[in-house]
Amino acid sequence: MECIFCKIVNGEIPASKVYENESVLAFKDINPVAPVHILIIPKKHYTSVLDIDTKSNILNEIFEAARVIAKELNIDESGFRLVTNTGESAGQTVKHIHFHLIGGRDMQWPPG
Ligand code: IMP
Repeated sequence: MECIFCKIVNGEIPASKVYENESVLAFKDINPVAPVHILIIPKKHYTSVLDIDTKSNILNEIFEAARVIAKELNIDESGFRLVTNTGESAGQTVKHIHFHLIGGRDMQWPPG
């Protein structure tokens, strides 16, 4: 199995975990772009928005994780972004869907 995030889920690669349950894992991004930069992933492999199972509860669980983590890391009141890059032009480099939870600084819009 070549997927780096599946390897993190399986414990083959270490990660700084901040949240975990049966179906969702969240860990610190190895190359943070803000004081808070967490990646939230389903443990099951989906490539992107294009193939994630919208009939299951997984997206609700990911958003629940985002809410819990944002509160725990004290960025719920100041604000944060929850972003999933999809495909090459959008900058997706890891082909296991992940949601960037980014906060702790002011941000610009539109993003680059
Ligand atoms: P993408 O560009 O939206 O696909 O985001 C991939 C993210 O995964 C980038 O922000 C990387 O810094 C991050 N990343 C890649 N490998 C690791 C790792 O082993 N641990 C934690 N984060 C990683």
